[in-house]
Amino acid sequence: MKKIFKYLLAPSAALMLLIGCGSNEATTDEASNSDDKLQVVSSFTIIQDLAREIGGDDVSIHNLVPTGTDPHEYEPLPLDMKKATDADILFYNGLNLEGGEDGWFFKMINSVNQDMDNLYSLTERVEPMYLSGEDGKKDQINPHAFINPAVGIKMAEDMRDAFIEKDPENKGNYEERATAYLERLKEVEKEYRERINDIPEEKRILVTSERAFQYMADEYGLKEGFIWAIDTEENGSPEQIKSLIAFVKDNNVPVLFIESNVDTRPMETVSKETGVPFSEKPIYSDEIGKPGEEVDTYMKYLNYNINLIHDELKEH
Ligand SMILES: [Zn+2]
Repeated sequence: MKKIFKYLLAPSAALMLLIGCGSNEATTDEASNSDDKLQVVSSFTIIQDLAREIGGDDVSIHNLVPTGTDPHEYEPLPLDMKKATDADILFYNGLNLEGGEDGWFFKMINSVNQDMDNLYSLTERVEPMYLSGEDGKKDQINPHAFINPAVGIKMAEDMRDAFIEKDPENKGNYEERATAYLERLKEVEKEYRERINDIPEEKRILVTSERAFQYMADEYGLKEGFIWAIDTEENGSPEQIKSLIAFVKDNNVPVLFIESNVDTRPMETVSKETGVPFSEKPIYSDEIGKPGEEVDTYMKYLNYNINLIHDELKEH
Protein backbone atom coordinates (compact mmCIF):
# COMPACT_ATOMS: atom_id res chain seq x y z
CA MET A 1 0.00 0.00 0.00
CA LYS A 2 2.71 2.36 1.08
CA LYS A 3 4.85 1.47 -1.94
CA ILE A 4 2.07 2.18 -4.40
CA PHE A 5 1.53 5.54 -2.78
CA LYS A 6 5.18 6.46 -3.14
CA TYR A 7 5.18 5.35 -6.75
CA LEU A 8 2.22 7.61 -7.46
CA LEU A 9 3.99 10.52 -5.82
CA ALA A 10 7.05 10.33 -8.02
CA PRO A 11 5.69 11.97 -11.21
CA SER A 12 4.37 14.99 -9.32
CA ALA A 13 7.73 15.42 -7.61
CA ALA A 14 9.44 15.36 -11.00
CA LEU A 15 6.97 17.90 -12.34
CA MET A 16 7.71 20.21 -9.44
CA LEU A 17 11.40 20.06 -10.27
CA LEU A 18 10.62 20.97 -13.87
CA ILE A 19 8.50 23.97 -13.01
CA GLY A 20 10.93 24.95 -10.26
CA CYS A 21 10.20 25.33 -6.59
CA GLY A 22 9.13 28.77 -5.43
CA SER A 23 11.08 30.39 -2.63
CA ASN A 24 8.01 30.20 -0.39
CA GLU A 25 8.11 26.48 -0.58
CA ALA A 26 11.74 26.30 0.43
CA THR A 27 10.99 28.08 3.69
CA THR A 28 8.02 25.97 4.70
CA ASP A 29 9.34 22.59 3.63
CA GLU A 30 12.63 21.76 5.11
CA ALA A 31 13.29 18.74 2.92
CA SER A 32 10.91 18.89 -0.02
CA ASN A 33 13.17 16.90 -2.33
CA SER A 34 13.39 13.83 -0.09
CA ASP A 35 10.21 11.96 -0.81
CA ASP A 36 11.21 8.90 1.19
CA LYS A 37 10.35 10.88 4.31
CA LEU A 38 6.93 10.75 5.89
CA GLN A 39 4.95 13.67 4.41
CA VAL A 40 3.35 15.61 7.26
CA VAL A 41 0.82 18.43 7.23
CA SER A 42 0.23 20.47 10.43
CA SER A 43 -2.67 22.85 10.87
CA PHE A 44 -0.83 25.63 12.76
CA THR A 45 2.54 26.68 14.16
CA ILE A 46 2.46 24.93 17.54
CA ILE A 47 1.66 21.56 15.97
CA GLN A 48 4.32 22.20 13.32
CA ASP A 49 6.87 22.66 16.08
CA LEU A 50 5.79 19.48 17.88
CA ALA A 51 6.13 17.58 14.59
CA ARG A 52 9.62 19.00 14.11
CA GLU A 53 10.65 17.89 17.59
CA ILE A 54 9.18 14.38 17.44
CA GLY A 55 9.43 13.71 13.69
CA GLY A 56 12.99 14.99 13.32
CA ASP A 57 14.77 13.83 10.17
CA ASP A 58 12.19 11.16 9.44
CA VAL A 59 9.53 13.64 8.31
CA SER A 60 8.98 16.50 5.92
CA ILE A 61 6.48 19.06 7.26
CA HIS A 62 4.18 21.47 5.54
CA ASN A 63 2.40 23.87 7.90
CA LEU A 64 -0.92 25.49 6.99
CA VAL A 65 -1.73 28.56 9.15
CA PRO A 66 1.44 30.67 9.48
CA THR A 67 2.41 33.02 12.33
CA GLY A 68 0.41 36.23 12.10
CA THR A 69 -2.68 34.50 10.70
CA ASP A 70 -5.79 33.47 12.64
CA PRO A 71 -6.09 29.66 12.98
CA HIS A 72 -9.83 29.97 13.63
CA GLU A 73 -10.46 31.21 10.09
CA TYR A 74 -8.06 30.42 7.27
CA GLU A 75 -8.13 30.26 3.47
CA PRO A 76 -5.88 27.39 2.26
CA LEU A 77 -3.52 28.29 -0.62
CA PRO A 78 -3.02 26.13 -3.73
CA LEU A 79 0.21 24.75 -2.24
CA ASP A 80 -1.66 23.82 0.95
CA MET A 81 -4.17 21.85 -1.14
CA LYS A 82 -1.42 20.02 -2.95
CA LYS A 83 0.41 19.15 0.28
CA ALA A 84 -2.83 18.04 1.91
CA THR A 85 -3.50 15.77 -1.08
CA ASP A 86 -0.06 14.15 -0.90
CA ALA A 87 0.26 13.93 2.90
CA ASP A 88 0.84 10.58 4.63
CA ILE A 89 -0.35 12.08 7.90
CA LEU A 90 -2.18 15.27 8.88
CA PHE A 91 -2.28 16.72 12.39
CA TYR A 92 -4.84 19.19 13.63
CA ASN A 93 -5.74 20.58 17.06
CA GLY A 94 -9.46 19.78 17.10
CA LEU A 95 -11.74 21.27 19.78
CA ASN A 96 -12.94 23.57 16.97
CA LEU A 97 -9.64 25.47 16.68
CA GLU A 98 -9.74 24.99 12.92
CA GLY A 99 -13.41 25.98 12.77
CA GLY A 100 -14.87 22.57 13.65
CA GLU A 101 -16.61 20.21 11.27
CA ASP A 102 -17.85 23.01 8.99
CA GLY A 103 -14.60 24.94 9.25
CA TRP A 104 -11.81 25.56 6.76
CA PHE A 105 -9.76 22.50 7.70
CA PHE A 106 -12.41 19.85 7.06
CA LYS A 107 -13.59 21.68 3.94
CA MET A 108 -10.05 21.38 2.63
CA ILE A 109 -9.76 17.71 3.65
CA ASN A 110 -13.03 16.86 1.91
CA SER A 111 -12.10 18.72 -1.24
CA VAL A 112 -8.77 16.88 -1.60
CA ASN A 113 -10.30 13.46 -0.84
CA GLN A 114 -7.86 12.60 1.92
CA ASP A 115 -8.24 9.30 3.69
CA MET A 116 -9.74 9.98 7.13
CA ASP A 117 -7.35 7.36 8.56
CA ASN A 118 -4.48 9.75 7.88
CA LEU A 119 -6.05 12.46 10.04
CA TYR A 120 -5.10 12.89 13.69
CA SER A 121 -6.64 15.27 16.19
CA LEU A 122 -4.18 15.87 19.05
CA THR A 123 -6.84 16.59 21.68
CA GLU A 124 -8.80 13.33 21.77
CA ARG A 125 -7.79 12.82 25.40
CA VAL A 126 -8.55 16.40 26.46
CA GLU A 127 -11.75 17.13 28.36
CA PRO A 128 -13.32 20.09 26.47
CA MET A 129 -13.98 23.33 28.34
CA TYR A 130 -16.74 25.67 27.24
CA LEU A 131 -16.95 29.42 26.69
CA SER A 132 -20.06 30.72 28.39
CA GLY A 133 -22.86 31.16 25.87
CA GLU A 134 -23.97 34.76 25.84
CA ASP A 135 -27.11 36.09 24.16
CA GLY A 136 -28.77 32.69 24.41
CA LYS A 137 -26.20 31.20 22.05
CA LYS A 138 -25.12 27.61 22.45
CA ASP A 139 -22.01 27.06 24.50
CA GLN A 140 -18.87 26.89 22.39
CA ILE A 141 -15.87 24.67 23.01
CA ASN A 142 -12.76 26.63 23.89
CA PRO A 143 -10.09 25.42 21.43
CA HIS A 144 -7.02 26.79 23.26
CA ALA A 145 -6.09 23.71 25.31
CA PHE A 146 -2.44 23.77 24.11
CA ILE A 147 -1.71 26.86 26.25
CA ASN A 148 -1.79 24.43 29.18
CA PRO A 149 1.51 22.47 29.29
CA ALA A 150 -0.31 19.50 30.87
CA VAL A 151 -2.24 19.28 27.60
CA GLY A 152 0.95 19.78 25.59
CA ILE A 153 2.24 16.55 27.13
CA LYS A 154 -0.82 14.63 25.91
CA MET A 155 -0.51 16.17 22.44
CA ALA A 156 3.15 15.16 22.17
CA GLU A 157 2.39 11.60 23.32
CA ASP A 158 -0.47 11.26 20.83
CA MET A 159 1.71 12.59 18.03
CA ARG A 160 4.44 10.06 18.86
CA ASP A 161 1.91 7.22 18.72
CA ALA A 162 0.49 8.49 15.41
CA PHE A 163 3.94 8.65 13.82
CA ILE A 164 4.67 5.10 14.97
CA GLU A 165 1.35 3.87 13.58
CA LYS A 166 2.01 5.38 10.14
CA ASP A 167 5.75 4.76 9.99
CA PRO A 168 6.54 1.72 12.17
CA GLU A 169 9.94 1.26 10.50
CA ASN A 170 11.22 4.31 12.36
CA LYS A 171 9.53 3.55 15.66
CA GLY A 172 12.79 3.70 17.64
CA ASN A 173 13.59 7.20 16.34
CA TYR A 174 10.16 8.59 17.21
CA GLU A 175 10.31 7.06 20.65
CA GLU A 176 13.77 8.40 21.37
CA ARG A 177 12.96 11.96 20.33
CA ALA A 178 9.58 11.92 22.07
CA THR A 179 11.06 10.66 25.34
CA ALA A 180 13.66 13.43 25.42
CA TYR A 181 11.11 16.08 24.49
CA LEU A 182 8.50 14.85 26.96
CA GLU A 183 11.06 15.01 29.74
CA ARG A 184 11.54 18.70 29.03
CA LEU A 185 7.79 19.29 28.75
CA LYS A 186 7.20 17.66 32.11
CA GLU A 187 9.82 19.90 33.70
CA VAL A 188 8.09 23.00 32.33
CA GLU A 189 4.75 21.68 33.53
CA LYS A 190 6.13 21.36 37.06
CA GLU A 191 7.44 24.88 36.81
CA TYR A 192 3.97 26.23 35.98
CA ARG A 193 2.65 24.75 39.21
CA GLU A 194 5.55 26.02 41.32
CA ARG A 195 5.72 29.52 39.90
CA ILE A 196 1.99 30.16 40.05
CA ASN A 197 2.00 28.99 43.67
CA ASP A 198 4.76 31.52 44.29
CA ILE A 199 2.44 34.43 43.31
CA PRO A 200 0.50 35.86 46.28
CA GLU A 201 -2.97 34.34 46.19
CA GLU A 202 -4.88 37.60 45.74
CA LYS A 203 -2.76 38.40 42.68
CA ARG A 204 -3.38 35.14 40.81
CA ILE A 205 -5.53 36.80 38.15
CA LEU A 206 -4.80 36.63 34.43
CA VAL A 207 -6.47 39.33 32.32
CA THR A 208 -6.14 38.97 28.53
CA SER A 209 -8.11 40.15 25.49
CA GLU A 210 -9.42 36.77 24.30
CA ARG A 211 -10.54 34.06 26.72
CA ALA A 212 -7.76 31.79 25.45
CA PHE A 213 -6.17 30.84 28.77
CA GLN A 214 -9.09 28.93 30.30
CA TYR A 215 -7.49 25.45 30.37
CA MET A 216 -4.22 26.73 31.80
CA ALA A 217 -5.93 28.99 34.35
CA ASP A 218 -8.13 26.11 35.49
CA GLU A 219 -5.20 23.69 35.76
CA TYR A 220 -3.04 25.95 37.95
CA GLY A 221 -5.60 28.02 39.83
CA LEU A 222 -5.57 31.42 38.12
CA LYS A 223 -8.68 33.57 37.99
CA GLU A 224 -9.52 34.70 34.42
CA GLY A 225 -10.59 38.09 33.09
CA PHE A 226 -11.08 38.85 29.38
CA ILE A 227 -12.69 41.26 26.93
CA TRP A 228 -14.11 38.79 24.41
CA ALA A 229 -14.70 35.03 24.55
CA ILE A 230 -13.20 34.07 21.18
CA ASP A 231 -11.54 35.87 18.25
CA THR A 232 -14.19 34.85 15.74
CA GLU A 233 -16.87 36.91 17.51
CA GLU A 234 -17.18 40.62 18.14
CA ASN A 235 -13.89 41.90 19.56
CA GLY A 236 -13.91 44.82 21.94
CA SER A 237 -17.48 46.15 21.89
CA PRO A 238 -18.26 48.94 24.43
CA GLU A 239 -20.24 46.45 26.60
CA GLN A 240 -17.37 43.95 26.59
CA ILE A 241 -14.91 46.67 27.60
CA LYS A 242 -17.25 47.97 30.30
CA SER A 243 -17.64 44.53 31.77
CA LEU A 244 -13.87 43.96 31.98
CA ILE A 245 -13.36 47.40 33.57
CA ALA A 246 -15.79 46.37 36.32
CA PHE A 247 -13.97 43.04 36.75
CA VAL A 248 -10.57 44.74 37.00
CA LYS A 249 -11.82 47.15 39.66
CA ASP A 250 -13.69 44.48 41.65
CA ASN A 251 -10.73 42.11 41.74
CA ASN A 252 -7.90 44.61 42.25
CA VAL A 253 -6.18 43.23 39.14
CA PRO A 254 -2.46 44.10 39.34
CA VAL A 255 -1.55 44.04 35.63
CA LEU A 256 -3.15 43.53 32.18
CA PHE A 257 -1.75 41.21 29.49
CA ILE A 258 -2.03 41.71 25.73
CA GLU A 259 -1.62 38.81 23.30
CA SER A 260 0.92 38.99 20.47
CA ASN A 261 -1.80 38.60 17.83
CA VAL A 262 -4.64 40.92 18.87
CA ASP A 263 -5.72 44.53 18.36
CA THR A 264 -4.29 46.32 21.41
CA ARG A 265 -6.79 49.21 21.44
CA PRO A 266 -9.57 47.62 23.53
CA MET A 267 -7.11 46.71 26.31
CA GLU A 268 -5.58 50.20 26.10
CA THR A 269 -9.02 51.59 26.90
CA VAL A 270 -9.32 49.26 29.90
CA SER A 271 -5.89 50.39 31.14
CA LYS A 272 -6.75 54.08 30.70
CA GLU A 273 -10.08 53.71 32.51
CA THR A 274 -8.70 51.73 35.45
CA GLY A 275 -5.13 53.00 35.77
CA VAL A 276 -3.88 49.39 35.75
CA PRO A 277 -0.69 49.02 33.65
CA PHE A 278 0.12 46.52 30.87
CA SER A 279 2.73 43.86 31.16
CA GLU A 280 6.02 44.97 29.64
CA LYS A 281 5.91 42.34 26.90
CA PRO A 282 3.04 40.61 25.03
CA ILE A 283 1.75 37.19 26.06
CA TYR A 284 1.49 34.40 23.44
CA SER A 285 -1.71 32.48 22.75
CA ASP A 286 -2.65 31.35 19.21
CA GLU A 287 0.82 31.13 17.70
CA ILE A 288 4.55 30.97 18.19
CA GLY A 289 6.88 33.57 16.63
CA LYS A 290 8.58 33.31 13.25
CA PRO A 291 11.89 31.39 13.11
CA GLY A 292 14.61 33.50 14.73
CA GLU A 293 12.19 35.46 16.90
CA GLU A 294 12.32 35.23 20.71
CA VAL A 295 9.43 32.75 21.02
CA ASP A 296 9.91 30.53 17.97
CA THR A 297 9.27 27.09 19.54
CA TYR A 298 6.50 25.65 21.72
CA MET A 299 9.01 25.05 24.51
CA LYS A 300 10.10 28.70 24.43
CA TYR A 301 6.44 29.74 24.28
CA LEU A 302 5.62 27.81 27.45
CA ASN A 303 8.69 29.11 29.28
CA TYR A 304 8.17 32.67 28.12
CA ASN A 305 4.52 32.78 29.20
CA ILE A 306 5.08 31.42 32.69
CA ASN A 307 8.04 33.77 33.29
CA LEU A 308 5.98 36.73 32.12
CA ILE A 309 2.91 35.78 34.18
CA HIS A 310 4.94 35.09 37.33
CA ASP A 311 7.16 38.16 37.16
CA GLU A 312 4.47 40.64 36.17
CA LEU A 313 1.89 39.51 38.72
CA LYS A 314 4.45 39.36 41.51
CA GLU A 315 5.99 42.75 40.67
CA HIS A 316 2.81 44.81 40.50
ZN1 LIG B 1 -7.63 32.23 19.72
